[in-house]
Amino acid sequence: MSDGRALAREFLEQQRLLGGEPVILPDGPPPGATIASTPGLRPGSAQSPPVDSARLTSSDTPGIPQSRPPAGGSDLPPPGLSYDPPGGDLFSNDPVPQAATLDAIAGLVAGCTKCRLCEGRRTTVPGEGAGDARLVVVGEGPGRVEDETGRPFVGPAGELLTKILGAIELPRERVFICNVVKCRPPDNRQPQFDEIAACVPYLFRQIEIVKPKVILAMGGTAAQTLLNTKQSLGALRNQVHRFRGVPVIVTYHPAALLRNPNWKKPTWDDVRIARRLID
Ligand code: SF4
Repeated sequence: MSDGRALAREFLEQQRLLGGEPVILPDGPPPGATIASTPGLRPGSAQSPPVDSARLTSSDTPGIPQSRPPAGGSDLPPPGLSYDPPGGDLFSNDPVPQAATLDAIAGLVAGCTKCRLCEGRRTTVPGEGAGDARLVVVGEGPGRVEDETGRPFVGPAGELLTKILGAIELPRERVFICNVVKCRPPDNRQPQFDEIAACVPYLFRQIEIVKPKVILAMGGTAAQTLLNTKQSLGALRNQVHRFRGVPVIVTYHPAALLRNPNWKKPTWDDVRIARRLID
């Protein structure tokens, strides 16, 4: 691949992580594939940037300090969108609204065949963390390592997320972490609309069960799904949105931060807002 083409692909992928539409390159991927299907751009994927997680310290994550500064100040961003989807029908045959615990949801996900993503998965990745978490982190979907381990946000991007959470004094185990779709899309492509529509009742029920004080939407897919919008990530940042009344803060996906360190400072600004809302 030429340098120019590699740069173009890099730029387009960054736009996708910001919430832009997938773009088809004319002479690149096979017919039908989109730039979003380029492997290596998701946490744990085979071609993820060669980041040595042991080196992910405050010195190379400028703007993300190791400890939280005083919360002080009430300069919260203005209110944004509000999305209040109807809950599931408790009297239908759908077991999702009747699932009373996160384990029950995970059990349903483990046997789910509601969309084509079940065909290529090794294991489902329902999410993990505290059932009474004050913060729920939502990403896009499992990558390669997640698919192998059944755990969300592992690999370099996951380790960066752990550091980000540590910087606001929220140990990873005290947060509930999950994705919009629970099975890995082939070649790490972006989940398609019908796949998200099939899977999102699990996410919505998980949020209902956890009852967090704040939701952190990481990446365009998570933000657009939780807020039922096509607005870009850039347009959605710096506002306090609501999902069923719960504040939603939109920020970059850790995989995007590994590719563009310039986004670490804005991400730190976003997570500080989330922390203030939790406090
Ligand atoms: S992605 Fe979601 S809806 Fe699709 S098979 Fe997996 S669990 Fe079911």
